[in-house]
Order: sequence, then structure tokens, then C-alpha cells
Amino acid sequence: MSTKRIGIIGGGIAGLAAAYRCEQLADDVAVTLIEREPRLGGKILTERVDGFVVEGAPDSFLSRKPRGVGLCEELGLAEQLHGRRPEHEKTFVRRHGQLHRLPSGLTGMIPTNLDALTNSTLISPAGRERLAQEASLPPVPAKGDESVAHFVTRRLGREVYEQLVEPLMSGIYAGDGEQLSLAATFPQLRQLELKHGSLLKGLSASQPAGSIQAAYPPFVSLPGGMATLVEAIQARLSRTQLCTGVTVESIRRQGDGYAITLADGHPIRVDAVILATPAFVTARLLADLDPVLADLHAQIPHTSAAIITLAFTASDLPHPLDGYGYVIPQVEETDLLACTWTSSKWDGRAPVGSALIRVYAGRYGRRDVTQLDDAELLALARAEVESTLGIAATPVRTWIHRWPNAMPQYLLGHTERLAQIEQRLAQNPGLFLAGAAYRGVGIPDCIESGERVARESTKLLAGRA
Ligand SMILES: Cc1cc2nc3c(=O)[nH]c(=O)nc-3n(C[C@H](O)[C@H](O)[C@H](O)COP(=O)(O)OP(=O)(O)OC[C@H]3O[C@@H](n4cnc5c(N)ncnc54)[C@H](O)[C@@H]3O)c2cc1C
Repeated sequence: MSTKRIGIIGGGIAGLAAAYRCEQLADDVAVTLIEREPRLGGKILTERVDGFVVEGAPDSFLSRKPRGVGLCEELGLAEQLHGRRPEHEKTFVRRHGQLHRLPSGLTGMIPTNLDALTNSTLISPAGRERLAQEASLPPVPAKGDESVAHFVTRRLGREVYEQLVEPLMSGIYAGDGEQLSLAATFPQLRQLELKHGSLLKGLSASQPAGSIQAAYPPFVSLPGGMATLVEAIQARLSRTQLCTGVTVESIRRQGDGYAITLADGHPIRVDAVILATPAFVTARLLADLDPVLADLHAQIPHTSAAIITLAFTASDLPHPLDGYGYVIPQVEETDLLACTWTSSKWDGRAPVGSALIRVYAGRYGRRDVTQLDDAELLALARAEVESTLGIAATPVRTWIHRWPNAMPQYLLGHTERLAQIEQRLAQNPGLFLAGAAYRGVGIPDCIESGERVARESTKLLAGRA
């Protein structure tokens, strides 16, 4: 019996989770992981320098999606998982240059405690009144997809959408709620409406009874930053051949397997291939093998992001940074999505006496911020902290991370496209897809997708043995 070989393309979290799970599931399968960059991790990138822990992109993940904490537990990282600093538990929304505290009583991003809104400066009395009518509005019978903006506006009113739901949602997808598919992003909200006749009633009915203590805080991170997860997986890979700094050029069928062609023309023969690349890369790689499948991937749009991190001497700051930071609604018409007060949000991110602030730029439908040069990005971030927080001091250190075409956008029609992708995949046995392009952009979603294709590919090859 000859050893079967799986080729994984892309060493982001999805590809790494796939490699790790393949090793766990099948000791007679040889795995080769090919990553274009010299380092593994993809969007997960942490810089540790002089006591600063700076995240280039993700800084945490949701604990309620099981495969993030699940994998960390398996890798022996559970003890290190920690939540945000409770003493600063406040988030703000920027409106007309002023910060308004996000009301308490949000379930996810939906305000379910109407009393908690009474003193909110964010939502007007008219907005609160509109929200209070939600429970008596009839549900709209099921008839296909609708945008997040349309759904939230018809249930909760325009003001709650614009001031509250939209900026929180943009923090996840960097998207335009008018175009984002509800079915692809928050299908559970629509299901609650249909089941309970009201979103608010549905959300309160789905709250756990009593005070069951969740095992982890809602958002978790690691003291050494998110790259700790990448390093832990890498340390546990014992039978995977890791090829970093190697670009895959194309994939074609060869017998009942595939030939992966590298940029230098070198072919690698595999029995199954897992593509864990961004959708537009996957489109290019599949162009010869299956032009229809390639085209379906090319139709998924992406938006670019830039993270500008500023370190200050804490005593230079006129603002207490008492909170986790603020989000910025689309109606403010800026490229910026959020400003995180990193050293107030997480323990151990900056040396004593320093403060770390991170500005997130890049919104779907606006200019590509990764085209701006360093000076322009810095100016954007410094103007923001000066105008909103009064910080005119010169940062002692800065970091800029650009992510061109970083965030796939699940626009209206995304779920239909996924169904078409599944259909085409059925015609390409041994070809598997994982990563942020499909069913969730969060780290736990990407891990889950990688683990799923590991199970499917090792099962297929076991059947062929
Ligand atoms: C700014 C930003 C902030 C974020 N914040 C959070 C957060 O706080 N929490 C959270 O859960 N999620 C967050 N996300 C989302 C999350 O980080 C990503 O969706 C996830 O990491 C994507 O993982 P992936 O493995 O699918 O893709 P990637 O990480 O993009 O990995 C794909 C890999 O494929 C490689 N590759 C591409 N082309 C080739 C080729 N031809 N040959 C070989 N290799 C190739 C790339 O180099 C890359 O390493 C954030 C994303 C961004 C951009």
C-alpha cells in the first residue's frame, strides 16, 4: 500500500488547522503544506518588540464558536486564554467627533435591554420608541435573502441600525450592511424572527436560564498575541512537510489525483489537494482545472485593510483611555472603522508607562487604504486620535500593517454561490476548499473549515487505500 499524499496550499490558520487535523486523523497520509510567504499564519501576525505585543490583524477571537477554544485546549493553550481587562469594560461609538458609550444589555450587537437604552446618548427617544415597537411588528414570511441593513432597519429601526448595529457589524466584516447578506452573515437573526415572531423576543428566549458561568470570556486572546496559536500548531506538526516562501502557480488533474505546479515550474503530485487560499487566489489556481469554479471564486469581492498602531508615553496622553476604544459608523463617512485602546483592553501589550492605540482603516466601497504610503496612513491615524481623543503628542513608536484584499465580502447571493461551488466541487473529487471565503471570516470559523476538509480528505483517501 503506497502512502497517500495531501497537498495543502496556504499556511494561514485554515491551512494550518487542516494540516494539524490531517496528522491527527491519519498516520499513513503524508501532508505537504505550501505557503507563499516566508512565515506561517497568513492574516495572523504578531510583532513582539521591547515589551510591546502588536497585532498586525486579529487581536482575539470569539469563544462561543467552538473550534477556536477547542483547538487551543487541544494544543495546551487553554490556561493562557484570557479575556479583556474587566476594569475598562466600556466601548464607545464616535458620532460627530464625540464618543458615546455603547449601552449595556446588548446581545451580540442587538440591544435587548430597552431600559439600558433610557440614558444612552447614542439613541434618541424616537429611536428607542421605534425599537420598543419591534415585538409587535409582524415577521416577514420567508422569501429569500435580504441585506443586514434591510433586516435590522425593518425590525429595529434605522437609527438603531446606523448608530449601533452597523458599526459593530463593520468591526467584523469591514463591509457595507446595505450589501451584506443576512443569510451568509447572521442567519440566526432571521431564524429567531421566523421562530418567535420577533427578534427581541427570540433573543431573550434564547438566553441561557439562570446564571450559567461561561467557561471563557466572550472574546479571548493569548498573552503573546495571536501568533502564539500559529506557533503552537507549527510545534505540533511532526509529519507535515512545510514549504514556506514557495508560491503555487496552478493545479491540474493528474490520474485520480492532482499536480500542483509551483512558480519555478516544479510539479508536486498529490492524491488530494486542500486550497486554503483567499478566494481570488483560489480563482487563479483553478483557472485551468475548472474555469466555472474559478469564476465563482472570482466573484467574491474583497476589501483591503490597514492597521496603524501607535505607542505613546502614557503621561503624554490627555485622555484616560478608560475603555476598549470606539467604533465608527459608516454614516461618519470616513475610511476608519475603529480605534482600539489596546493597552487598556488587554493586559501585557505595552511596557509600564506606555500606551498602545490601534487604528483600523479600510471599509468596503471606499478607497483602497493599502495604496496610501506610510506617511499618509500615519497622518490619518494621528489626525483621528488628535481630533477625537485630544492626543497631539508624537508617538514614540509606530507600526503599519497593510492587508490588500484582506476581507472577503459575503454580499447578497453569497449562499447561492456557495451552493454552486459545492456542486462544482462534486465534479472534482479530491479537491477541498477551506478558509475565510466561505462560511465565516473569524478565526474559529477558519479553523472549523480547515478541520472539516481534513476529515473529508483523509476519509476519501482511506476509502481509496
Ligand atoms: C485587519 C484584520 C483584522 C481581523 N481581526 C480579526 C479578529 O480580531 N478576530 C478574528 O477572529 N478574525 C479577525 N480577522 C479575520 C481573520 O484574521 C481571517 O479571516 C483569517 O485569519 C483568515 O485565515 P485563512 O487561513 O482563511 O486565510 P489567510 O490568513 O489569508 O491565509 C491564506 C494563506 O495563503 C497564502 N497564499 C496565497 N497565495 C498563495 C499561493 N499562490 N501559493 C501558496 N500560498 C499562498 C497566503 O500567503 C496566506 O498565508 C481579521 C482580519 C483582518 C484582515
